[in-house]
Amino acid sequence: MQYLAPTSVDSAIAALTDAAGQARILAGGTDLLVQMKSDMIAPEVLVDIKRIPGLREIAREAGGWRIGAAVSGAEFTEHADLCADWPGLAEAFDLIGSTQVQGRCTLAGNLCNASPAADSVPAMVAADAVARIVGPKGTRDVPVAEIPVAPGKTSLAPGEFVTSIFLPARAPRAADAYLRFIPRTEMDIAVASAGISLTLDDDGRCVAARVALGAVAPTVLLVEEAAAALIGTKLEAAALAALAQACESAATPIDDKRGTVAFRKQVVGVLARRAAEIAKTRAEERA
Ligand SMILES: Cc1cc2nc3c(=O)[nH]c(=O)nc-3n(C[C@H](O)[C@H](O)[C@H](O)COP(=O)(O)OP(=O)(O)OC[C@H]3O[C@@H](n4cnc5c(N)ncnc54)[C@H](O)[C@@H]3O)c2cc1C
Repeated sequence: MQYLAPTSVDSAIAALTDAAGQARILAGGTDLLVQMKSDMIAPEVLVDIKRIPGLREIAREAGGWRIGAAVSGAEFTEHADLCADWPGLAEAFDLIGSTQVQGRCTLAGNLCNASPAADSVPAMVAADAVARIVGPKGTRDVPVAEIPVAPGKTSLAPGEFVTSIFLPARAPRAADAYLRFIPRTEMDIAVASAGISLTLDDDGRCVAARVALGAVAPTVLLVEEAAAALIGTKLEAAALAALAQACESAATPIDDKRGTVAFRKQVVGVLARRAAEIAKTRAEERA
């Protein structure tokens, strides 16, 4: 196996396209190295992106934030201004693994590993995050929701990789929240999860919302009916009940020892309702 650590985007693309066998991007390695050690995959070439300038940076852009693809969970959650804008994504990212994992894991790695239970992905989809992808044919910006296409599979073409994640500008009374259910208290994979981002007007009425569910379908679900249940309301009990119902209806989970279909559907509705209440309180506090 060959380990390469290019210092430019172009040389990373070349390393991916020139590889004789399977080539994989190495970001934090917290999924990739585990999969290699357990013989699930055996890439010929590893392309470490951590030495590419800019990929470890968090920068302001167009009122929003550009997060380099090699920025770790710890670097993200220690950035006060970023976390003030996106507390829900920060709490989702912070749930990944332990302190050691936090020093390495990345948003793009969580996204491109394409697990249906990935914690940061529903929060990024709720945030309407956009991934910047580079490859042999140039650069393209793609909504995060369109990257995972099946468990373990992404829409990236051969030779392509993610260089950054863009989070859009926040309205003054906007906030997000993320909740997951796990049978243990930490270091476990979500049985169901919900990320919600919403914007309130000066009167406290919801004028925009995005609701994304994790671990209840092969890929993250963006549930427009759930968002519609909130928009135009002040998140009264009836609106929250309609939100929960829409999430239950949209969920198509698997049935396994960690949760039955009925359990996951019910729990995802409860999580969405609670996340909406948290996001609302945060939005009110930002005003
Ligand atoms: C002990 C432990 C606990 C964990 N707990 C959680 C948890 O609670 N929740 C959770 O969601 N995950 C968890 N994980 C999984 C993992 O930590 C996360 O998915 C993490 O975000 C992966 O990021 P990474 O940078 O380490 O990815 P890597 O392992 O480097 O890469 C993962 C995959 O994505 C590809 N890839 C990485 N970066 C890019 C890129 N920029 N462009 C294209 N492809 C790319 C790689 O080739 C690989 O296929 C845990 C892992 C461990 C070991």
